[in-house]
Parts: sequence; C-alpha cells; structure tokens
Amino acid sequence: SKGIYDLAVLKAIRTIPRHVFFDEALLKYAYQDNAFPIGEGQTISQPYTVALQTQLLEILPGDKVLEIGSGSGYQSSVLLELDATLYTIERQYKLYQKAKQFLTSFGYKNFNCFYDDGSKGLEKHSPYDKIIVTAGAPTIPNILIHQLKIGGKLVIPVGNKENQIMIRITRIDEKNIIQDSFGTCSFVPLIGENGWNE
Ligand code: SAH
Repeated sequence: SKGIYDLAVLKAIRTIPRHVFFDEALLKYAYQDNAFPIGEGQTISQPYTVALQTQLLEILPGDKVLEIGSGSGYQSSVLLELDATLYTIERQYKLYQKAKQFLTSFGYKNFNCFYDDGSKGLEKHSPYDKIIVTAGAPTIPNILIHQLKIGGKLVIPVGNKENQIMIRITRIDEKNIIQDSFGTCSFVPLIGENGWNE
C-alpha cells in the first residue's frame, strides 16, 4: 500500500526474519516499519525504505551488486534473496564483522564483505550492474557512476545530514545518465572521502 509492487521484493521481505538483526531489548519493535539502532551509532533501515531501494534497483538474478553501508546485513539479505551476487562494504569494523557473520549463518554463498570507505566504491570488482548506497550522501560521487556497467543503476539518498531525496541514476552510455527522484527519506550520513567529514 506504500507503493511496493515488485512481488519478488515483497516475497524477500516476507521471507527474511528481521528480528534476528535486533538486540534483545528492541526485539518487540522488529516488525514495525521503522529504523532502529544497531550499535556504533548506526541504524537498520526501515523495511519500506529497504523495499523501495531494492525495487528501484530492478534486480535480476545474477546481477553483480555493490552495497555501500552493510550495517546490520538486513538489506544485504534482501539482495541475496533476489539471487544477486553481492559485494558489500562497511566502514565500522564491528558492523562489518557482524554482517559477515549473519550472512554466513543464513547460508548465503554469493557475497563478499569488505571493511573500507565505500564512498570511493570498490574499484577492484567493478563494473557493477547495480550500486546501492544505504547512507545519506552530500552529492552523487562520480566515481560510483564510473563503476557502473552501461545500463547499470545507482540508487542513492542525497541531501543534508538529516533528510535526503532518493535518487536513481541509470547509466545509458559512456557519457550520459538519466536521473530520477523518488521522494524524501532519512538515512545516517555517508562518511568518507566522497561523503561527509566524520
Ligand atoms: N543497509 C543497512 C543500513 C545501515 S545504516 C541495513 O540494512 O541495516 C548505514 C551504514 O552505512 C552504517 O552502518 C554506516 O556505518 C555505513 N557507512 C557510512 N558511511 C560509509 C562509507 N563511506 N563506507 C561504508 N559504509 C559506510
């Protein structure tokens, strides 16, 4: 009813038990449509936002996807349920470790976790079919567009530290992109070389 019509996305959201990503004290909130703390001052995204970003990516099975901001690993699981091959990067060491442990324990195979500043993308494994940024950026880092395949899509919240607009970039050829906007959202800041200062 909020505008999520992609049945594969809805099925993935229905399949993944969100409570396993929650601390015991917050368990009762696990199935509310809100963001919640996951430690290190970070949050697990709102299910609606996870669904929206995933729907905008138009994931096809086998797509090579870069996720910037692994956080809890919840969005990563949704992408893996859709049979993406996932590269996910996180700048907080504890969260990087935890996400890796979760994804392994769920039995997913097609993922690689990285501990680094994802605002630079991940050149080594580029180009990607899709790139998703799950933290709010001050501007769209050009380097991310360059790491997309032609025809690839980048979904990124862009704005100030409190509120952003959900942007989708489609790379149509070497030099040209199409940019669409999909309403306001509120993410923790993307911190790094092409993001905010700490
Ligand atoms: N996708 C996550 C959302 C986590 S919140 C989930 O489903 O839970 C955003 C995350 O982005 C935080 O964990 C934060 O530490 C991380 N982050 C912020 N800037 C980053 C950067 N430059 N590179 C990688 N991760 C970053």
